[in-house]
Amino acid sequence: MGATMSTEQLFGVDRLLNDDERAIAATVADFGTKRLRPQVAQWFEDGALPVRELALELGDLGLFGMHLDGYGCAGTSATAYGLACLEAEAVDSGLRSFISVQGSLSMFAIHRFGSDEQKEQWLPAMAKGEALGCFGLTEPDFGSNPAGMRTYARRDGDDWILSGTKMWITNAPVADVAVVWAQTGENGLGRGVRGFVVPTDTPGFSAPEIKHKMSLRASVTGEIVLADVRVPASAQLPEADGLRGPLSCLNEARFGIVFGAVGAARDCLETAIEYSGIREVFDKPLAGYQLTQAKIADMAVELGKAYLLAIQLGRIKDSGRIAPEQVSVGKLNNVREAIAIARQCRTILGANGITLEYPVIRHANNLESVLTYEGTSEMHQLMIAKALTGQDAFR
Ligand code: FAD
Repeated sequence: MGATMSTEQLFGVDRLLNDDERAIAATVADFGTKRLRPQVAQWFEDGALPVRELALELGDLGLFGMHLDGYGCAGTSATAYGLACLEAEAVDSGLRSFISVQGSLSMFAIHRFGSDEQKEQWLPAMAKGEALGCFGLTEPDFGSNPAGMRTYARRDGDDWILSGTKMWITNAPVADVAVVWAQTGENGLGRGVRGFVVPTDTPGFSAPEIKHKMSLRASVTGEIVLADVRVPASAQLPEADGLRGPLSCLNEARFGIVFGAVGAARDCLETAIEYSGIREVFDKPLAGYQLTQAKIADMAVELGKAYLLAIQLGRIKDSGRIAPEQVSVGKLNNVREAIAIARQCRTILGANGITLEYPVIRHANNLESVLTYEGTSEMHQLMIAKALTGQDAFR
């Protein structure tokens, strides 16, 4: 007897979506199947992504800054954007990162905090994928606690001079423009953080690539070294005041991850279910053993719950303002469950589970990065518990 249901059907997910959302998810899934899946394992193995080519194709599909309005952006609902992230990450977390960093971090920062001139200069080209952006917040000594950042912007006449080092910056080595966050010392520590839109060909700017990653290999990561980079006053993001600026961008990108993690987990589970139906152990298919069935049922339940949580958060975001703590709940749960599912699926594939012939180990390794960036699980636990108890346990 063949399978009678998918996880989505088990949870009736489809019924929660409208026609537009279903159509967008189907378009991205189709692009993933035809264009990305045949090559993604090779990109991962090579640790290289054809970024320029892909950027134009993803731009054509309207995936960059998809839920932003104007400037050539598609202006879809947040839920539709989330579903696009889900289908992209079902292929590879690195590809979803590419979309998130361009749209939710770099474009969102310019769209939300930029001047009209900055928006006109960058957003239409970024939406088309003709210009690539990156978002520089993390530093070698300050990841979870960006308030301690040492990158400094000092005034020189009307100009700003930026100096410091950013670390682990997605797309930095290939970007045309970097949104860089720096301490200015204005208004006291922490509140003096300001954002700058820095063309990457500005003298003093360099972005060496970080090699030897064992995770998110189909994604370009680099440092940003700012050696007295001089930018005009007009490079400052006028509406960003203090750390709230970059943190609100992170909240946008985390929202995409809430959905994206579901995609990675779904791909692992589908692979494991198919494999266990074909693989014979002790004279019958692996899927026919109760131990395997318990694994599959438990994973499907967690996946379905993660799906429903993502859609619920999408609905909250589409109906108005979503609280950062609500996004934290989704990021914490969905990434944690996705990585548990990926590792469990790996066991079902046995030795085959460690090769790039199947997507499972690639997803599991990728999810290690997803667990860490955009706030580690511990940071989200602290945020959620702070909201619930009123006690700040960050320090
Ligand atoms: P640390 O802050 O040093 O944390 C180490 C451990 O300590 C973690 O487990 C953490 O949860 C824990 N910890 C920290 N504080 C506490 C506490 N108070 N209580 C208990 N535990 C605590 N950054 C960008 O700005 N832009 C990007 O585009 C970007 N892309 C990335 C791509 C990849 C592939 C990766 C891996 C990272 C990327 N990052 C990016 C950086 C990422 O956001 C940081 O790595 C992350 O914020 C964690 O910082 P850290 O690595 O310095 O870890």
